[in-house]
Amino acid sequence: MRLRKLDPYLNVDPGTMSPYQHGEVYVTDDGAETDLDLGHYERFTGVPSRRGDNVTTGQIYSKVLARERRGDYLGATVQVIPHVTDAIKEFVLSDAGGVDFVVCEIGGTVGDIEGLPFLEAIRQLGYELGPTRSLFVHLTLVPYLASAGELKTKPTQHSVKELQSVGIKPDIVLCRCERPIPIDARRKIALFCNVRPSAVIQALDVDTIYAVPRAYHEEGLDEEVCRHFVLEGTAPDLSRWDYVTGRIRQPDGEVTIGVVGKYTTLIDSYKSLAEAMTHGGIANNVRVKVNWLDSEIFESEGAIQNLENVHGILVPGGFGERGAEGKIAAVRFARERQVPYFGICFGMQMAVIEAARNLAELPKAGSTEFGPCEDPIVGLMTEWALGNRVERRNTDSDKGGTMRLGTYPCLIEAGSKLNEIYGATEISERHRHRYEVNINYRESLERVGVRFSGLSPDGELPEIIELSDHPWFIGVQFHPELKSKPFEPHPLFTSFIEAAVAQSRLM
Ligand code: GLN
Repeated sequence: MRLRKLDPYLNVDPGTMSPYQHGEVYVTDDGAETDLDLGHYERFTGVPSRRGDNVTTGQIYSKVLARERRGDYLGATVQVIPHVTDAIKEFVLSDAGGVDFVVCEIGGTVGDIEGLPFLEAIRQLGYELGPTRSLFVHLTLVPYLASAGELKTKPTQHSVKELQSVGIKPDIVLCRCERPIPIDARRKIALFCNVRPSAVIQALDVDTIYAVPRAYHEEGLDEEVCRHFVLEGTAPDLSRWDYVTGRIRQPDGEVTIGVVGKYTTLIDSYKSLAEAMTHGGIANNVRVKVNWLDSEIFESEGAIQNLENVHGILVPGGFGERGAEGKIAAVRFARERQVPYFGICFGMQMAVIEAARNLAELPKAGSTEFGPCEDPIVGLMTEWALGNRVERRNTDSDKGGTMRLGTYPCLIEAGSKLNEIYGATEISERHRHRYEVNINYRESLERVGVRFSGLSPDGELPEIIELSDHPWFIGVQFHPELKSKPFEPHPLFTSFIEAAVAQSRLM
């Protein structure tokens, strides 16, 4: 199976968008910056997504225009239909050898101008494949009006009508709702929307996202899909989902993690991180409560008390100078007070700057991401190895798609804490960064207890640091949260939450 997301916006990928616009940027093994939905797909199915699983209008147009310039359409007037729609169909069907199903999600709302070419393309595809080889699921909203005490089916009727006006008849209508939809309302939707009543599936809000597979099963979604494709359905085994939801609902204790970041008012900006912490909680059978803290507050006197009651501190990935000093203050608190600290990407870079300034007596230590500085402990990466190739960058390079992206190997020092956590000395994790810890400062930092326990295979790029004189203080240049799954919590998150549990017992 392949799972794909079609995004109708004009950016080539979400890599250059603010997380406030679009939520987290999810990075695939092969280094694509994609929509955060691909993270959900991976966590739910375990199928690693690839560059080819997320397409945007920007990518489609770039491709069509490049072809036009090459002369591939010589003589023809290049148009949305058929050239753009053909390119979309090509995307849907590409790299799908050996798979039984390609599940495509189209972002946006039916009726959006920019979504039209996508709907037209899948309409054509549905026609070309025929009803036995294609299925349309339409997701709608059935709002509950509290003041009237009533569920409204009108928005569903309207959006189905809108969809039908572009030639697509949904086979299944999935109705998001916060209250159960009574049977007569479902019948009404079925009647107006031209579907069987059993194909009107209630998608009731659930307490945890991992309850969705069971909830949809109980509403008969899988049965409808099997019936449509004339597949002999056997009852699915949902026991592992039940195990996960059971642990989430009835944990044996709770820990609080303070996440000191920049985009803390939109939790979707840290979607994979929030999920990975939940997974670490599942592994330790505790609930992980997260205090999302805006790092800028730590730039004022007295704010550090917000960290007094947390059992672990995490500084996640981030960009730019705003709030960096607050993150450095949070690192210092974690280091001095022996609170478990987990620095991810930017969080590792800030940890190294903190140690350089306050332990290694380099008060002018900083990152060139914020401008020139006297001791560039963190600097722009200008050259690195990608397989047999050397990637080169300079300050004038394009900003889109040019970071060190995707899976890279890392060698872990035997006997280090990281070695113990991974149970391995060679790992491979996903990256997304433009700056790196400057290897030239290794000696001065190791002298004060900052161990460089993981490096790129050429020994040039620090991937992991740990503090020797601390119960749990780890910084990683990569993003372990991207690979964590409910059934396979990432070992770093399992270990971090375990350390937070130990910390909670001390407090
Ligand atoms: N801004 C930093 C860099 O580009 C960190 C990036 C991140 O945290 N993903 O290296």
